[in-house]
Amino acid sequence: MKRILITGAAGFLGSHLSDRFINEGYEVIGMDNLITGDMDNIAHLMPLEKFSFHHHDVSNYVHVAGDLDYILHFASPASPIDYLKMPIQTLKVGSLGTHNLLGLAKAKGARMLIASTSEVYGDPLVNPQPEEYWGNVNPIGPRGVYDEAKRFQEAMTMAYHTYHGLETRIIRIFNTYGPRMRVNDGRALPAFFSQAIENKDITVFGDGSQTRAFCYVDDLVEGIYRLLHSDYSLPVNIGNPDEITILQAAEEVLKIVEGTTSKIIHQGLPKDDPKVRRPDITKAQNLLDWNPTVDRHDGFRRTYEYFKTKLN
Ligand code: UDP
Repeated sequence: MKRILITGAAGFLGSHLSDRFINEGYEVIGMDNLITGDMDNIAHLMPLEKFSFHHHDVSNYVHVAGDLDYILHFASPASPIDYLKMPIQTLKVGSLGTHNLLGLAKAKGARMLIASTSEVYGDPLVNPQPEEYWGNVNPIGPRGVYDEAKRFQEAMTMAYHTYHGLETRIIRIFNTYGPRMRVNDGRALPAFFSQAIENKDITVFGDGSQTRAFCYVDDLVEGIYRLLHSDYSLPVNIGNPDEITILQAAEEVLKIVEGTTSKIIHQGLPKDDPKVRRPDITKAQNLLDWNPTVDRHDGFRRTYEYFKTKLN
């Protein structure tokens, strides 16, 4: 049986990945310091013999007994309000945490996949963003703590690959959504769904003309699974190229949430908020034969069902 360590296992993506690898027959070791993760997301896995959980901050030395075949590094605050509240932890988990896990991967002879992000492109000057684009990042702006930690993470991972021959994979994740996002994590879709369900104002920042492209979590997990098992060590974008404005996203949420009396209001646009974002997924299509399969309407409905259960 293959053994895999998943950091951030109690988070949104980490918990879905834990499910997937358990279902594929792996032994999963989950690790999380629970600063943004939630044990509810993995409560169903806890009784399983093939699943174990370590409450640990990977920015400190990481010890795992026994063999390891794979490491997925998904631990990090990931929503803009989280990394504004926890800037130092965000920098540490992307840098020190990554270094610790690369060292562990080297010691165990494991293959390591890191969760990078479309934020490495910053406020992009080209749209859509191919992997070759170097980005437009403000290192000392409010988002710099996340963006630069992830850029350092990529550099460190490539260095271990190049100088130690470690098997590494780098995924650049674009906006992803679905069940198990935190109701109050501050990102656009959790905010809009919870506001609409509770009949509160829908807070669109700026005029809402900034764009994002939203990928349903199951599609992302499939992309990660395929990338891990590929032999490609350069970064690969995974996301849904279906780009919409944030105002349109808010309007669509309002249509889905039955009986809501919420109205859209506008608030100030956060500093350095990217004006456009859309993945060029040619690489994922050609190398992994991957394409998103869940359309937005379907994905929004499933997400609405989840937030309804969380808020009632
Ligand atoms: N946004 C918004 N209202 C909110 C939360 C976010 O209008 O209550 C906007 C935000 O300014 C950004 C977009 O929605 O332009 C996506 O924000 P999110 O926090 O989901 O993630 P980002 O893509 O910026 O990392």
